[in-house]
Amino acid sequence: MTVSPPETAQDDAIIRITDLNKWYGDFHALRGINLTVQQGERIVIAGPSGSGKSTLIRCINRLEAHESGQIVVDGIELTSDVKNIGKVRSEIGMCFQHFNLFPHMTILENCILAPMSVRSITRNEAEETAMHFLTKVRIADQAGKFPGQLSGGQQQRVAIARSLCMKPRVMLFDEPTSALDPEMIKEVLDTMTALAEGGMTMLCVTHEMGFARQVADRVIFMDQGEVIEENTPEAFFDTPRQDRTKLFLSQIFGH
Ligand code: ADP
Repeated sequence: MTVSPPETAQDDAIIRITDLNKWYGDFHALRGINLTVQQGERIVIAGPSGSGKSTLIRCINRLEAHESGQIVVDGIELTSDVKNIGKVRSEIGMCFQHFNLFPHMTILENCILAPMSVRSITRNEAEETAMHFLTKVRIADQAGKFPGQLSGGQQQRVAIARSLCMKPRVMLFDEPTSALDPEMIKEVLDTMTALAEGGMTMLCVTHEMGFARQVADRVIFMDQGEVIEENTPEAFFDTPRQDRTKLFLSQIFGH
């Protein structure tokens, strides 16, 4: 008789969020959020403005503190313990709407600063890694320039490369294309798509629904601080279940 190994559900969770609540003063911004992110998963968080998407993303690397519930990243719980916050942040890359590059430093210097100070690696090593990722985002030839000499799209690609230089296990994006001129959106989305295809675990707050459809494994729809619906992109866009999701989609797509 052969004995089969016990069947265990495939669980490679890298982020586990349980009954998360966050208030700004009296305002209940996140209401009992539950979300598990598997390693390699690509998640798009969608929803109307003010629904708590950015707050959720910011709680995951403790740019905002939550009041109740649990956030565990790669087995480390986020609390007020600064050591744990440091550990979690070293695993998470973050890319914002505004690129936040240091204007007085070259592109290369922007990319080597954090790895040299946080990871304690040599300048040579840091430069090699930086050039590797600048090549990946197709901007290696601009390494000696200052951020102000680059277009918005190029600066955002540098910001992505800079995050990657820290070798994160998860990338968080908070509306990375919202501040860009339309002709530059595609180049940033292409960079994000390539990153996704390379296996990076990603949580992206974005209004780019084409990207969501093409790249996401799962779309999370938030409204008024709650997760209202989550599904594959196909099901989310083609057969939304909740009225609020239907309303949101009709407002974006105009039907
Ligand atoms: P979204 O990213 O979906 O647009 P946010 O997470 O930015 O939503 O905001 C959710 C709600 O919390 C909004 O009503 C917003 O006004 C409020 N909010 C966000 N940040 C703060 C803050 N620092 N202080 C007070 N209220 C805030």
